Amino acid sequence: MGDGVNSAAKCNKYSIDDDGKLVRNAEFCPTCGPGVFLAVHANRKSCGRCGYTEMKGE
Ligand SMILES: [Zn+2]
Repeated sequence: MGDGVNSAAKCNKYSIDDDGKLVRNAEFCPTCGPGVFLAVHANRKSCGRCGYTEMKGE
């Protein structure tokens, strides 16, 4: 669906702060590289593409 700028609203991985800067809410997969986000779970982060899992160390 190409409805112009509104289509960007589907991507909630980012948010814009009051200064207009792009704030990244998710981390990239260190294996897949920039563009592939890690899914954040309660106690871990995982990549849905390569299966990389990073436990939260707290
Ligand atoms: Zn990955």
